[in-house]
Amino acid sequence: MKTIIGESKRYLEIDLTSKTWTEFSPPDEDLHDYIGGKGLGLKLIHDRLGARLAEVDPLGPNNILAFMMGVFIGTGAPCSARFAGVTKSPLTGIMVSSSCGGSFGMACKTAGWDGVLVKGKAAVPTVVKLDEFGVLFEDAGDLWGMETGSAQAKLVDNPRKGALVIGPAGENGVLYSVIRSGGRYLGRGGMGTVMGAKNLKAIVATGMSYTIVPAKPEKFKLVNAKAKKMINRNEFVQAYRAYGTNFGVNSGVDTGYAPVRNFRDRTDERCRNLSGEAMVERYHTTHASCAPCTVLCGHKGTYPDGIKRHIPEYETIGLWGGNLMNFDPDIIGVWNDRLNELGIDTISCGATVGWAMEAAEKGLRPSALEFGKTENITALLDDIAYRRGEGVDLALGTKRLAQKYGGLDFAAQVKGLEMAAYDPRAGWGQGLNYAIANRGGCHLNAYPIAMEAIFKFIPQYSKLSKVSWVAFMEDLFSATNSTQTCQFTIFGYILEPPVAKYTPKPLLKLAMTYLPDVAQLVLDWSALSSLVAAITGRNLGMRGFLKCGRRTHVLERHMNVLCGVTSADDTLPGRFLNESQTKHKDLSVVPIGPMVQAYYRKKGYDEHGVPRPQLLRKLHITP
Ligand code: SF4
Repeated sequence: MKTIIGESKRYLEIDLTSKTWTEFSPPDEDLHDYIGGKGLGLKLIHDRLGARLAEVDPLGPNNILAFMMGVFIGTGAPCSARFAGVTKSPLTGIMVSSSCGGSFGMACKTAGWDGVLVKGKAAVPTVVKLDEFGVLFEDAGDLWGMETGSAQAKLVDNPRKGALVIGPAGENGVLYSVIRSGGRYLGRGGMGTVMGAKNLKAIVATGMSYTIVPAKPEKFKLVNAKAKKMINRNEFVQAYRAYGTNFGVNSGVDTGYAPVRNFRDRTDERCRNLSGEAMVERYHTTHASCAPCTVLCGHKGTYPDGIKRHIPEYETIGLWGGNLMNFDPDIIGVWNDRLNELGIDTISCGATVGWAMEAAEKGLRPSALEFGKTENITALLDDIAYRRGEGVDLALGTKRLAQKYGGLDFAAQVKGLEMAAYDPRAGWGQGLNYAIANRGGCHLNAYPIAMEAIFKFIPQYSKLSKVSWVAFMEDLFSATNSTQTCQFTIFGYILEPPVAKYTPKPLLKLAMTYLPDVAQLVLDWSALSSLVAAITGRNLGMRGFLKCGRRTHVLERHMNVLCGVTSADDTLPGRFLNESQTKHKDLSVVPIGPMVQAYYRKKGYDEHGVPRPQLLRKLHITP
């Protein structure tokens, strides 16, 4: 087998219209400045579309889909199976990126390709096949129309292969369709819809032509062992490992971030039936994670009908559980399987169904959907994927529905992207995060609810320190998502080094609340930046690594401004600003306006949320 030292620096650019492909290598300074993965994907799209971004129809041939392998893939670094998808979203009309596991990333990287750009539109439904020698275009034939699992099973017929596939939802233009890789999904913003609009059913990579060797193998061995040790001993990682992402359900009930009744309420004792702890007992769960993974958050278990299922993630549980007043974990497992086969984003769809239930209750839109009624949901999922009956409407997502029927105040979305299962009234930093996150109502931008309500490092109902932590964490996550390791590893990287680990928790909390900028100066994520150095040979240092994340985040904001985002979009739906009665003991609404303005100042944006020219220059971003 041939060897790649760190990165091949070889990228494919595929034009579906002309059925042609070319190979290119980005300049070394771009690899240095953006690391790889998400950051480089945004840069490559910006280079190609630039100021024309505003005119690009997300579902037209000019939109570009970038699939970017991270620098960790194939090295054995922690959680190194992941890659990024980046494109202009049909759901939001702005940039969207997603991180995904499954088998595609490894197959593509070991076929010798660090990334794949896809543009144009195929004349007929098509499957793209790539290997170390290049690209073939094949008629999708009877694969078109197939569900994701069956299409994948037909295409991935040996262990060298990995595939990206869409299901009926992507083919039929449901605006929040996903792309599947193995048992994982590029979930947010309708990337599957972009693939479907390009008549692209699947991309299949045949890999294992190359092995990936770090540029500095000895250094890698040392840092990798240290990183794994830190991740393994972290208590939050251990909670993910034991209970999956649903370990967050019980704290959601306690601290009030659980979405209940379309985010009207934020706690309900019955949600505890859906907790990770309850699932472990009920389904005798075992791990079913991305491979390789150090955290092991994924679980599967045996349901009462005898079927082994992947346990739905926390977001799915939240939005199809308490959000719909449904407290039956078995039925959510069935819906989760169906949504995955149809190729539908479980977050956006759950939020949309919740909105439709409330709109019906308020008489805004006639529907048989009702809170607490589950009988008519299973059939509805197929109706959405095939855009028939009520599914025609629901395939549009909450924002478009609310614009059509009224009810924007209770549409749980920002910039058109439905919020994940964290009520922002339970953590004002989470409110700020949703309001300014580049892809819309995204929980993962800076994930402050973890610091506010789950780990309780900073107060929930306070503006203190929130701007600082959101601005810092979104840069750190942007850099992390450019290596493409899993975001869940970050707890190990930043909480296990000596200063954070051995400072008494009350002192740590005080520093994080009252002196956040100082606390950030003493945090240590050098194991992460050292892994990048050992793999690529590019020694960014800890601060340089963070700067790459800031550059990526600001570039994405700049691209969104080109797409038409203004400060008027950086807010929350009225419910979260005005309704404090939520059945939770604490009354709270999010004071969003002052936090957003302070955030702009912190980031170097003007009062309209536009990155200032001197900031772009400092970060080497060409407008
Ligand atoms: S922690 Fe979970 S999401 Fe992250 S790589 Fe592992 S299994 Fe995948």
